[in-house]
Amino acid sequence: MSRQIQSVNPATEALLARFDALEPGAIEQRLALAATAQRGWARTPLSDRLPLLRRVAGQLRAEKAELALLISLEMGKPLAEALGEVEKCAWNFDHYADTAALQLADEIVPSSAADSRIVRDPLGLVLAVMPWNYPLWQVMRAVAPVLAAGNGLVLKHASNVPQCALAIEGLCRRAGLPEGLVTTLLVGAAEVPQLIADDRIAAVTFTGSTPAGRSIAAAAGQALKKQVLELGGSDPFIVLADADIDTAASVAVKARFQNTGQSCIAAKRFIVEHAVADRFVEAFCEQVKKLVIGDPLVDGITQGSMARTSLRDELHAQVQASVHEGARLLLGGRPWGVRGAFYEPTVLDHVSPQMTAAREETFGPAAAILRVRDAAEAIQVANGTPFGLGAALWTGDLERAARLAHDVEAGAVFVNGLVASDPRLPFGGIKASGYGRELGRLGLHEFTNAKTVWTGPVRA
Ligand code: NAP
Repeated sequence: MSRQIQSVNPATEALLARFDALEPGAIEQRLALAATAQRGWARTPLSDRLPLLRRVAGQLRAEKAELALLISLEMGKPLAEALGEVEKCAWNFDHYADTAALQLADEIVPSSAADSRIVRDPLGLVLAVMPWNYPLWQVMRAVAPVLAAGNGLVLKHASNVPQCALAIEGLCRRAGLPEGLVTTLLVGAAEVPQLIADDRIAAVTFTGSTPAGRSIAAAAGQALKKQVLELGGSDPFIVLADADIDTAASVAVKARFQNTGQSCIAAKRFIVEHAVADRFVEAFCEQVKKLVIGDPLVDGITQGSMARTSLRDELHAQVQASVHEGARLLLGGRPWGVRGAFYEPTVLDHVSPQMTAAREETFGPAAAILRVRDAAEAIQVANGTPFGLGAALWTGDLERAARLAHDVEAGAVFVNGLVASDPRLPFGGIKASGYGRELGRLGLHEFTNAKTVWTGPVRA
């Protein structure tokens, strides 16, 4: 009997749909179709490819309500956030439709040749192994640059969002992309190494946990295939004594609790100078108390359900361990409601770097506050983690911020602002948060062959 992939509403625990995982024959058929579609697409002039990206943006906007509902139903985020997610995907497609021609243009490099230049050719089919936390955005932010560069994309999405996975393929077809160019494979994680080894797959992009990233890196390394890895994070949110504390506290709430805390770039460790710690904690808790938890489909709800009860239970165990280790529980700290994967917005104060909430990634609505002596200790604590994805730095002294930004071990530092992905800016990490970049020009270039073309003079 074939393996089943289930779509379960985490807010109600009701089964929404059930799918048979693809058998080897069906996988083969879909890969063959994808490879043919990609070859045709690579031969299509860029000037014809880019208008199709623009049509995907339009299709996303046309289907926004249905897509957002599906996202909320399958992984529990508030509907308003899901609507924002769809809109952001459309922005990303518009962005690459606007900029890819310039970014993929030949680069002339003077040399001894009559003409020498770098041209950007596609690599082929890119396998995207993706997580559930932004079921549309995580995928579509890869699809736009991958297609702009002339590649095709094969999607292995997280097993708890199969309806979103199928919706992505359907939407791309309705926008007019060739059949097979964006192909969804409903398969489990166990099929991934075989897919990576397949000759038709040229490269891999992965977003998800660090352990899964290690397995994928090993398989891609064995097959000598290019990879981009976006893994976990435990982002610091550093508040120095000269910061605007009220603004910092208010942004901090969004930084930690948006998407019900399930974001790789959510702020997870709030590292605050002693001199302002009491003020920051008071303002932060005041705002956290205003979060409204409940049915993600209801207007005004700001905290939905987590994506699976197992993830809720893991978070609860981390909170309990931290309290046991000496952290002070200021708010929350318990599962919420009679059913569903809900967890109370939680604040832990007096967390030390050795405690669970600081050492491990907390992928849910729980904030850890660490109090430090000065900026030097703040940087030391911020860097005292295996991760290096994003970081926020709050200070009134921008010259100091520019200096300190170099000392923070992360793929991005946001000064006096919310760490967020943006189609115009590269996104990615260092250390155990992965390597490679998505978005912006660097993201577009990741899945291209930067080919040197050297031309000598024609001699009569
Ligand atoms: P995950 O296990 O890494 O899953 C992400 C994707 O990888 C899914 O498509 C999953 O497929 C697949 N996968 C899992 N193990 C694999 C393996 N050994 N080889 C190949 N593919 C594999 O993440 P999760 O369990 O959904 O979430 C757990 C943790 O991941 C979170 O607590 C958080 O730390 C991290 N996470 C990070 C991000 C991010 O944006 N950086 C996003 C989500 C999760 P199946 O669904 O079929 O297992």
